[in-house]
Amino acid sequence: MKPLVVAVVGAGPSGIYAAEALTAQSEIPVQVAVIDKLPVPFGLVRYGVAPDHPSIRSIRNTLERTLERDDVSFFGNVAIGRDLTVEELRSVTDAVIYAYGAASDRRLDVPGEDLAGSIAAPDLVAWYCGNPDVHPETSGPSTGSAPDGDGHNPVEELITHTRQAVVVGAGNVALDVVRVLIKNVDELEDTDMADEVLQVLGVKSITDVHLLARRGPAYTSFTTKELRELAKIDEVDLILEPADFDLDEPSRARVDKDKIAARNVAAMQDWLERPVTGAARRIHLHFWTRPTKIIGTDRVEGVGIERTRLDDTGRVIAARALEPIPAQLVVRSVGYRGIALEGIPYDAELGRVPHAGGHVIRSDGFSPDEYVTGWIKRGPTGVIGTNKSDAVETVHSLLNDVEDEALVAEHDIAELAALLAERGITPLDLPAWRRINAAEIARGQGHGRDRTTIAHHSELLAAADDPA
Ligand SMILES: Cc1cc2nc3c(=O)[nH]c(=O)nc-3n(C[C@H](O)[C@H](O)[C@H](O)COP(=O)(O)OP(=O)(O)OC[C@H]3O[C@@H](n4cnc5c(N)ncnc54)[C@H](O)[C@@H]3O)c2cc1C
Repeated sequence: MKPLVVAVVGAGPSGIYAAEALTAQSEIPVQVAVIDKLPVPFGLVRYGVAPDHPSIRSIRNTLERTLERDDVSFFGNVAIGRDLTVEELRSVTDAVIYAYGAASDRRLDVPGEDLAGSIAAPDLVAWYCGNPDVHPETSGPSTGSAPDGDGHNPVEELITHTRQAVVVGAGNVALDVVRVLIKNVDELEDTDMADEVLQVLGVKSITDVHLLARRGPAYTSFTTKELRELAKIDEVDLILEPADFDLDEPSRARVDKDKIAARNVAAMQDWLERPVTGAARRIHLHFWTRPTKIIGTDRVEGVGIERTRLDDTGRVIAARALEPIPAQLVVRSVGYRGIALEGIPYDAELGRVPHAGGHVIRSDGFSPDEYVTGWIKRGPTGVIGTNKSDAVETVHSLLNDVEDEALVAEHDIAELAALLAERGITPLDLPAWRRINAAEIARGQGHGRDRTTIAHHSELLAAADDPA
């Protein structure tokens, strides 16, 4: 039986789990091409999960085993929409699974949001994880909010000039950002952070990080383990407002029925009992507080804030104005968001690709050969493992379509390679990733660490080419 050629767009967890689900069954032979615009696989497992969480980052070892299979091929450094259009990809494969994640962010929609110094968590996270898209080939001072054409890195300039930072959001990504901003560099030196990231973090002088949560302590989406890590950071005081823990009736009801909320509130109540030591660095947790404006003329100088409360319908509304917080850096961490890729149907309101059970829906009904999985299918929710069941659902829909003969094997995997070759594009395959991996391990061991991330495109490509 001729194998079905399936292209998976995105080598993050959802794309690789889709490849795993496709190849774990033996009834329908498949050949899977996992394509990523970056030179390396693993998506946010490499470029999102916090570097000081090595055990979660090591999930990539499990993901890599799927890429090692004979019926799976990795095509790195190939961007759909740039190197090949969606139509071209569909023309050389039998089915396509979109797994390209949700790389954009939600905005605060307050005045001053575009001032220099106001950035989105995805940009800061990409920087400290060493994503080559935000690490231009040469660095130097600049003022914008994304790498500029001269190779300057604005995030580096911001970090080195910040004393007080505000992080808006009450989820785990906000906690990651708070930790990285407040930790002393010696607490990050055993991570796989790129050398230049560590260098910048080594000269930062951030004394205060303020986290703003528009609801109360019973409403956070932190996982308790991550929340508790804040109390383990060396020489940092945690500043909370005791009145925030006089829980109102809805908060008490929440704590009664939600174990995570109860654990989070209990963890923070414990901190209220800890003496403030007068440490040189502080994390301030502001509940029932939201930003009203970012203050500054050319760049961020502070954040206007207000106290909030819930109205009768449970909506967050303003209660009263509060004193602004002086700050040179504002990081909005209020959610990731999917983006439209040309040629792929997209629901702009939800930031997702429309589908039923993972089968993509176009304006005239189900697409004959398109499927979707991961964050671009369901939005930025859940843990890494959630992408596995999500991918299984999508692959189930696809295999059902093969059984119903709605999807038929007509192509050969060599057609994709030939089309790329015709364009002069040389994809990076799994052996290339292994060479990059070896180079990162060697670089790390030179500094007494397990590995050091290579943050520049040119260096990744050079390592991929290096037979040593
Ligand atoms: C900051 C942060 C920290 C996190 N920490 C944790 C954690 O500690 N534990 C946990 O369980 N979960 C964590 N998560 C969630 C987890 O990372 C996600 O659930 C998961 O990565 C989503 O998988 P995905 O494959 O849908 O998307 P991604 O991981 O984003 O993968 C998408 C891939 O598609 C590629 N791509 C995009 N556009 C194109 C294109 N045009 N052509 C080709 N390829 C393309 C991208 O380069 C990327 O590799 C974290 C998320 C973030 C943002």
